[in-house]
Amino acid sequence: MNHPHDLRQPLLTDLEMRLAGIADRARAADEAGELPPENWREVVDSGYPQMFHPVTLGGLALDGVTQARAMETLARACPSTFWSATMSVLVCVKLISTHGNLDDHRDLIGSLIDGRRLACFAVVERTSGSDPGTYATTVRRRGDHWVVDGEKSRVTNATSADVAVVFARLPEHGDGWCYAFVDLGQERVHTYDIPHLGLRAMPWGGIVLDGAHVHARDVVPLRLERLSDAMAWGWLFISIAAIAIAESALDCAVRHARSQVAFGRALGHMEAVQSALAQTRVEIDAARLLAYRCAWHRAQGRLVPDLVGMLKPYATEMAVRATSRAVQVLGAHSLTPGNPVERLYRDAPMNVIGGFASNRLRDLVAGQIGLPPTYQPFDWLDGTGLDLDPRGLTGAAGT
Ligand SMILES: Cc1cc2nc3c(=O)[nH]c(=O)nc-3n(C[C@H](O)[C@H](O)[C@H](O)COP(=O)(O)OP(=O)(O)OC[C@H]3O[C@@H](n4cnc5c(N)ncnc54)[C@H](O)[C@@H]3O)c2cc1C
Repeated sequence: MNHPHDLRQPLLTDLEMRLAGIADRARAADEAGELPPENWREVVDSGYPQMFHPVTLGGLALDGVTQARAMETLARACPSTFWSATMSVLVCVKLISTHGNLDDHRDLIGSLIDGRRLACFAVVERTSGSDPGTYATTVRRRGDHWVVDGEKSRVTNATSADVAVVFARLPEHGDGWCYAFVDLGQERVHTYDIPHLGLRAMPWGGIVLDGAHVHARDVVPLRLERLSDAMAWGWLFISIAAIAIAESALDCAVRHARSQVAFGRALGHMEAVQSALAQTRVEIDAARLLAYRCAWHRAQGRLVPDLVGMLKPYATEMAVRATSRAVQVLGAHSLTPGNPVERLYRDAPMNVIGGFASNRLRDLVAGQIGLPPTYQPFDWLDGTGLDLDPRGLTGAAGT
């Protein structure tokens, strides 16, 4: 989108130029199923990681809308690179700088912002997804150190990250939880790749923590209710990934509708085609405005769970509709590998499920309009009445 009178425009135009190589490599990266190392280098050199942080952390202290526009610029270039980079330089840095101790964690934060290290946020487990009450990974004190046991799964950057922010139980604090900042380079950790439909170049997989060591200063106690504060940074960036994917799909569809001739005129003359693409235009802009609103508040320190709860379902499901309409307009071209719409059509649904399924976030909106909660927290490990064994789904109901 063009913003000719905007003082931030030169910064964003410069970012777009610096990310041009990433855009050129997006198709090859998808085909190879991995990110070329130069993508990460170019992200770091572009100044993108600094854009989300205050001057005290070496950041540029940009306003939320400019941050959102910078995110969309990278997501337009390559959604897989965007996911991988933003998970580390936005979500993980916010987690560590908000919940950690700046004296202890300044070096870690600095190494993530300047690209010496990559981080992942490990929450979900192999048999547990949307409901944190079902997570079993535990951090315990053993002698003079702490150890982490468990398995995290479907984690962005799992196979490439140097450090993980692991969300885990902390029995030492009763029913408590914590973030543990775990060095993934140690022997007691192994990671594995999980093949995936879309965002194929994004590293994604599992992390097995088998008595992994973690320093006491890197175990930060946390109340379960505060998990969503951090997840909301994820919901915002995932929504922006969806908006970028929808915009790219619309571009392809408009170009095709203007150039493909059928029944003696360009496809774009057909009312059904016009209506589909005009509807996509409206929905992208509505999602983008909501994203700007969320980003503006979040950058000023407000959590706005209600706004993010509206944004993620709307933006991510909108992108699935937008890419599906693009497929309709392009016809068979868009169903062949190598066509950009084929890739966007696979990328879009990843955002619906990633970082908590969009369905689940409608709870936040329902609460905001005064409806009683449907969600009942329960603790899988304390017995749920479902007769399931969390250690392997081997209980009566699981056999
Ligand atoms: C692209 C991508 C990136 C990801 N990156 C990470 C990561 O970096 N770190 C990490 O820890 N995890 C990550 N995940 C995992 C992701 O967070 C989970 O897949 C997600 O939380 C849903 O869990 P699940 O897949 O087990 O589905 P389930 O929890 O089994 O849910 C299945 C379906 O049930 C419905 N549902 C569940 N709960 C509710 C509810 N309360 N209200 C209404 N409907 C509901 C939804 O339709 C949902 O899709 C990623 C996933 C994807 C796709």
